[in-house]
Amino acid sequence: MSMSILYHAFGIKGVTYRSTYYLGNAVLFRVETTDHHVRCPKCGKNYCIFRGPKTRWLRMPPIGRKQAILELIMHRLQCKNCENLWWPRLPFMLGTARYTRSFALTVLDLLRSWTISAVAKYLHVSWDVVKDIHKSRLATKYRRIDLRKVKYIGVDEFSIRKNHDYMTIFIDFQTGRVLHAVEGTEKEVLSPFLRKLAKKAKQLKAVAMDMSASYTAAFKKYLPNVPVVFDRFHIMALMSRQIDSLRREEQNVLAAEGKSTLKGSRYLLLRNYHSLTQKHQQKLDRLLEANQPLFTMHVMKEQLRLFWEQGNKKRADSFIKQWVFDALVSGIKQLISVGMTILRRLEGLLNYYPHKITNGPLEGLNNKIKTMKRQAYGFRDMEYFKLRLYDLHTS
Ligand SMILES: [Zn+2]
Repeated sequence: MSMSILYHAFGIKGVTYRSTYYLGNAVLFRVETTDHHVRCPKCGKNYCIFRGPKTRWLRMPPIGRKQAILELIMHRLQCKNCENLWWPRLPFMLGTARYTRSFALTVLDLLRSWTISAVAKYLHVSWDVVKDIHKSRLATKYRRIDLRKVKYIGVDEFSIRKNHDYMTIFIDFQTGRVLHAVEGTEKEVLSPFLRKLAKKAKQLKAVAMDMSASYTAAFKKYLPNVPVVFDRFHIMALMSRQIDSLRREEQNVLAAEGKSTLKGSRYLLLRNYHSLTQKHQQKLDRLLEANQPLFTMHVMKEQLRLFWEQGNKKRADSFIKQWVFDALVSGIKQLISVGMTILRRLEGLLNYYPHKITNGPLEGLNNKIKTMKRQAYGFRDMEYFKLRLYDLHTS
């Protein structure tokens, strides 16, 4: 092994090659710093003397199936002019890390297609070493996130531990990027990012979110001029929950009478009617014929979908007002409840026009997040988890 290969294959330079030896399953390259002509960081003169050596062992990328180690003998330097003392800084080192720069780059290459555990196992290092290399790369990459060109943002939350503790994420709809992630959903934890948005995101046109009171209040305070759009997904989800509540009630009544005609109907009721098979459509038709309140509710659900197809705000406005009127006079308490909610949130609903944004991109992202949560790194290191979120759009 010559200095030339160490340089070309592993980026080792600024040292002199001494020897190669083998230890167990590893190959070790001994090198030494020999250069006296190093510029003094204090006075700028470039002649030094050596003041006592120390040896460090740095991991290199493997060679074939052998682990490779750089045994580095370093000499402390002292300036002949001003007597300043220091340890040389070598281009293949990363601070005090116990691996070379080329090792870290190899880790990053492998992580493009392998999991952390697989990389750690292959390179014979701990899970944390691999994670820390990735984390420090991501931290550099996402130190600053440019908000100047952001036009549409979606806000959503997801649980980070079972049943409690939520994380809020902000997404740029044009790029699908997670712009910010923060633990909690309260105004206080959102405010630092909202202040930054108010200052930097001068092109921000609208923000899509669910109807949660804390989000709307926070946006009203920091970005009062940015229209809030209550998105389609959450409104349809609200409608579905109420249909389900009605179905359960009706089911209980029928059960008390010794009938069970609603068994297995949940799926049929909640799906988009047009996406059902003909057989399922017929089954649903029969079921609804026998149950007037469910029939009404189902028709209203299918009607509500058309709100987002109205073309412009004016038509959408008269459409939704008619819908709310029908809901309020239906006499079905679940439908009245949806009608009341929509009436209270009418402006946010109508803000869909003309921006036409929905939290749609978020739903796709949620699946990726679920996968991430299932993997081992989950939430052991929250900073790392957030950095992975910022990087999700690249995967
Ligand atoms: Zn000096």
